[in-house]
Amino acid sequence: MNLGIVTGIPGVGKTTVLGEVEKLSKEKNIEVLIMNYGNYMLNTAINMGFVKDRDEIRKLPLTSQKKLQYEAATNIIHDASKLEDKGIALLDTHAIIKTPSGYWPGLPKHVIEILNPKVIFLIESEPEVILNRQKGDSTRKRADYNDIEVIKESISFARYAAMASAVLVGASVKIIKNEEGTPSKAAEEILNVMIG
Ligand code: ATP
Ligand code: AMP
Ligand code: MG
Repeated sequence: MNLGIVTGIPGVGKTTVLGEVEKLSKEKNIEVLIMNYGNYMLNTAINMGFVKDRDEIRKLPLTSQKKLQYEAATNIIHDASKLEDKGIALLDTHAIIKTPSGYWPGLPKHVIEILNPKVIFLIESEPEVILNRQKGDSTRKRADYNDIEVIKESISFARYAAMASAVLVGASVKIIKNEEGTPSKAAEEILNVMIG
C-alpha cells in the first residue's frame, strides 16, 4: 500500500482538497482510499464520553490524546492494509497540534513508524486567506487558531514538524498551495505525486 499523509493547519483546506481528490480519482477510475485521522480519534473519544465534537479533542489532557492517537494509528493501518500492494491511501491529519500544553506532534516516532508514508503533503495558503476560511466556516470551532500571529506561528511549526516526522521514515515533504477558489488544482497535484 502506498500511503500519503496530508497535513496543514486547521482551516487551510485539507478535507476540502481531499474531497476533490475523491472526485478526481473517480473520474480517472483510480482507486483511492481517503481516511481522516480525527474521525478515528473522535469515534473512540465519543464512545468514552471524553468529548462531544472533534474540536474538543485537542483540549483533552495530553495522556488521553496520546492514547487516542496511538489507537487511531493502529486502526488506520489495519484498514489501509486491506488495499492491494499498489493501492493509494491518503490520510487527512496534522503534523502539529496546538494543545493547552503547547505544540504537540501529530506524527511522533511511534505513529509515523506504524504509518510509514511515502510522502507527507503540507497544504499551505496565505495566513490572511486561512483566517478568512476559518471565519467563514461555522461548522467548526477553531477559535484557538483564529488569530493571524497564531496562524503564522502554526505554519512555521507545521513545516518543522512535517520534516521531523519525514526524517524518521525517509519520506519526502511536498508543499501544496491551496489557492482560493481552486482546491481541485491542489487535488490534482497530490494525485499526480501519488501516481508517479
Ligand atoms: P481542519 O484541520 O480544522 O479539519 P481543514 O484543513 O480540513 O481544517 P477545511 O474544512 O477543508 O479545512 O476548509 C476550511 C474552510 O475553507 C471550509 O469552509 C472550506 O470550504 C474552505 N476552503 C477550503 N479550501 C478552499 C479553497 N481552495 N478556496 C475557497 N475556500 C476553501
Ligand atoms: P481534524 O478534523 O483534522 O481537525 O481532526 C480533528 C481533531 O483530531 C484534531 O483537531 C486533533 O485534535 C485530532 N487529530 C487529528 N489528527 C491527529 C494526529 N495525527 N495526532 C493527534 N491528534 C490528531
Ligand atoms: Mg478537516
